[in-house]
Amino acid sequence: MKWAMVSTWKMSRDGQLKAAELLEKGASADEAAIIAAEVIESNPAYTSVGYGGLPDNRGRVTLDAGFMNGDTLKFGAVGCVEGFKSPIRIARKLAENEFNNFLVGRGAEEYALKNGFEQWNNLTEESYARYLKEKDNTGKLKSYDGHDTVCYVVRDVNGTVCTAVTTSGLFMKEHGRIGDSPLAGCGYYADSQFGGAGCTGVGEDIIRGTVAYKAVSKLSDGKSAQQAADETLAEIMTRIPDCRSVSFVLLDKDGNFGVGTNCDFPFVYGSDEDGIRLYLAEYRDGKTAIRLIEDDECELD
Ligand code: ASP
Repeated sequence: MKWAMVSTWKMSRDGQLKAAELLEKGASADEAAIIAAEVIESNPAYTSVGYGGLPDNRGRVTLDAGFMNGDTLKFGAVGCVEGFKSPIRIARKLAENEFNNFLVGRGAEEYALKNGFEQWNNLTEESYARYLKEKDNTGKLKSYDGHDTVCYVVRDVNGTVCTAVTTSGLFMKEHGRIGDSPLAGCGYYADSQFGGAGCTGVGEDIIRGTVAYKAVSKLSDGKSAQQAADETLAEIMTRIPDCRSVSFVLLDKDGNFGVGTNCDFPFVYGSDEDGIRLYLAEYRDGKTAIRLIEDDECELD
C-alpha cells in the first residue's frame, strides 16, 4: 500500500477526495491532512466545523483544532478561536514553534493576525438561526445535541503518519469551553512507528479516557488495528460506565484501519489500493460492527 487515510463522518469524504489526488502525486501526510481538513472547514453546508459551525451559548462560533506529525511527535493546536477562516492552518503553523504550541482564545487570535491568517466571520445566517431557536430552549438541551468533529489520520508513501482535527465543538457549549479536539493524546495522536488516531463525540468523556493515545499505544504489541480499537473501546466502556457518545478512527503504520464506537458512526477509509469508501460502524453487543454502505443508507453527515 502506498498511502492510506481514515476520517470521521461522511462529510470527511470531500476532504479525502482532494487529499487522495495529492497523495497520489507524492504529497506528504502533513500536507494531505491539512488540505483535507481545510476543505471541510470552508464548506458552510457542514455545520459542525469551521464556516457555518455550531455556535456556543453566546451565539459565537469558537473553534478548536489540533495537528500532530507522527515522525517528530510535534503538535500544534488552537482552542476557542474566533474569526479566522482555517483553524487547522493556525494549528499547523504552531507545530513549527519550539514553545507555545497550543494557544487559546484571544492569544491564539492575536497570533493568527500577526502571522497573516485570513480573518473570517464563521457565523452564517443558518448557524445563528439554530442558536436563536435553542436559546429559548435552555435547560431542555440534552447532552449538547449536535456536534461532529472531523479528524483525518493520513499515512503517506514514506510511512509518515499525521493527524488533523477541526471542530466547532459541542452545540451551545459554555463560552470558553474547549473539548478534546485540540488536546494531543485525547482528540488525536500520531506516532509513525505505530500509527495514528482521531476522535469524535462528547469531549469530556474522550478526555477522561485519553482515547487517542490509548488506541495508538495498543498498536504497539503487534495487534491488528481493529483488535487495538476493540480493546480500547472495551476498556473505556468498562472504566467509564456513564460514557456518552464516543467514536474514534485508528490507522496503523501500514495503512490498515480500525474503528471503535458506542453509537452509529459513519466514517471514510481511503487508500491507493481500495479507493475511497464510506462505512458505517455500529455498537452491537458491546462491540463495534463495521460494514460498507451506500450513500443513501446514511443520513448522518
Ligand atoms: N469532540 C468534540 C467536542 O467535544 C465534539 C464532537 O466530536 O462531536 O468538542
